[in-house]
Parts: sequence; structure tokens; C-alpha cells
Amino acid sequence: AAKAAGKGQVLVFSPAMELRVRERLRLEADLRSALEMKDGMFVFYQPIVDIETGRVTTREALVRWHHPDKGWISPAQFVPIAEQRGLIEQLSMFVLQSASREAARWPDGARVAVNISANQLGKGTLVPTILAVLVRSGLSPDRLEVELTETALFGSETGCIDDLRRLRDIGVRIALDDFGTGYSSLSHLQMFRFDKVKIDGTFIRHIATRPESAAVVKFVADLGRRLDITTVVEGVETSEQLDYIRKEGCREAQGYLLGAPAPCDADAPAIERLHHAHRQSLQVLNRKT
Ligand code: C2E
Ligand code: MG
Ligand code: MG
Ligand code: MG
Repeated sequence: AAKAAGKGQVLVFSPAMELRVRERLRLEADLRSALEMKDGMFVFYQPIVDIETGRVTTREALVRWHHPDKGWISPAQFVPIAEQRGLIEQLSMFVLQSASREAARWPDGARVAVNISANQLGKGTLVPTILAVLVRSGLSPDRLEVELTETALFGSETGCIDDLRRLRDIGVRIALDDFGTGYSSLSHLQMFRFDKVKIDGTFIRHIATRPESAAVVKFVADLGRRLDITTVVEGVETSEQLDYIRKEGCREAQGYLLGAPAPCDADAPAIERLHHAHRQSLQVLNRKT
């Protein structure tokens, strides 16, 4: 760690810290060029299933980055860098464009869900961008869903809510992601009428062993029914978990049991080649971070 050198208050970086800073700067530069060249950036799609009918209602678009030397890097690692270094608009544009173009071709008419960072709200650019992408792809607005994470929404100003309202007015659906992990989950529900609430995967992971987690799932399912908000459970991996959330009346499920994130047909051969080149399997990409 950095040491304050006595009274002079000079901050000294340890070699380990300097290395970390260097690596982060390098990663930022690489991310910038990957986005510029659209090289090594992909979008994977994961099905979200109606628990009663078994039908795929939505597919979530999840960004993937294959670094030329490091191989696959988790979005949990590079999305925060993009957010902090002014690259998130570019990243979002890539995902929005790819996802809308792809979804416009789906024969089952399922919706596509795209993750949006909270710092994209309230700037006056998000709504026009989304409108332009929809027009260009020919995707109907009611087939697009925007996912916003809980933690990121914390402390939102009115400009953010205005953007959400405008999106809702043109028919785009709004989902509250990672529900239950933020600082003020319930107050978010008061701020805005969300169409969907996605219960974070950490709750379902522990339902068998932690009564608290099971109670949270039960509570949110009930809340969803009362407020007429579609409840989705993330991270469903076993049929026992699916049985539990069905019994509690959750509407939709997402997780490896129902399907892992996968590339679109057009990208599949390129992904296959990258896996061989780096001896990495899809397992790496689907490891929860
Ligand atoms: P998220 O939006 O909550 O996405 C769900 C994450 O859970 C994904 O991780 C997915 O691969 C993983 N997952 C799905 N099913 C299961 C399961 O059964 N078990 C486990 N253990 N995990 C499962 P991923 O793709 O690594 O993405 C991590 C986060 O990065 C996302 O969380 C989202 O917040 C962010 N992210 C991904 N793509 C984008 C993007 O295009 N834009 C922005 N702003 N953020 C993105
Ligand atoms: Mg999401
Ligand atoms: Mg989530
Ligand atoms: Mg998440």
C-alpha cells in the first residue's frame, strides 16, 4: 500500500501498486482500441424463460471481450473501466446496435434486454441514441428492454427518471437488475414504475441453506404480484431452484439450467476459433464473476 512519508506527506507507490495502475491503463488503452476497431468485441445472448409456459420471452445481451493476449476478460472487470474512462457510450452503442439488428431477425419475436449504465442517464443522449438504433434496425420499441442495476441507480436525480419515462413512453420496457443488492431496493420501486424486477442470483444460490434468502425470494414474488411487475429470478442452475420459484409464483427465470449465454449464429465460427487459439472453453465465459 501507499505510505505517507512522515511530515512531508509524500505518497509513495509500492511496486505492486504501480504495476496495478500500469495494467489498468494498459487495459483501458486496449479497450479503447477494441471498441474503435470493433475487434474482439462480441455480444452473447442468454434466454429468459416464462416459468409457466416454458417459452423464451426475452434474451439478455451480454457483452464479451476477447483480449489479444489475455483472452476472455469478464465484463465485471472492463465495464467499470468503460464507465470511469468515458468509454461506456461507445460500448453501449456497440451492444445496442448488435442486439437490435440480431433481435429484428428472431423468428420467435422474443424481446432483447440490454444493460445500460446509470451514468448514461440524464445526459440527454440516451433516448435519441436508442431511437436512432431502433429506426435503423427496424426493431419495434416494445421488443427492447433496458436493464438498470440497482446499485448504479442509487441517488438518481430527476433527469434520470425523465429519461426512463421517455423510454417508457415510446414503448421500451425498463427492468430493475440485481434487485436486493443495492442500498435502497424498495425506494427504487417508489421512484419509477418498472416493468420487471430481476432478483439477484445470490438469493437463489442460497435458498436451500439460508432461510433469509428463501424469504427474500418469497417476498419479492409477492411484491411483484401486488404491484403487477414481472419478477425474474437470475442464476437458476438446478431444477430444485426452478421448482421453488415456480411454487412462489415468480414469473420468469434465467440461468444455466435454462441456457447459458451464447453467441449469435454469425459469430459462432469466430468464437470457436478464439477458443481453440487460447485453449479456453465456454466455461470460462460463463463463470459467474
Ligand atoms: P447482469 O446484467 O446481472 O447479468 C447476469 C450475469 O449472470 C451474467 O454475467 C451472466 O453470464 C451470469 N449468469 C447467467 N446465468 C447464470 C447462472 O446460472 N449462474 C451463474 N453463476 N451466473 C449466471 P456476465 O455476462 O459476466 O456479466 C456481468 C455483469 O456485467 C452483468 O450482470 C452486467 O451488469 C454487466 N454487463 C454485461 N454486459 C453489459 C453491457 O453490455 N453493458 C453494461 N453496461 N453492462 C454489462
Ligand atoms: Mg442484466
Ligand atoms: Mg443481474
Ligand atoms: Mg450483475
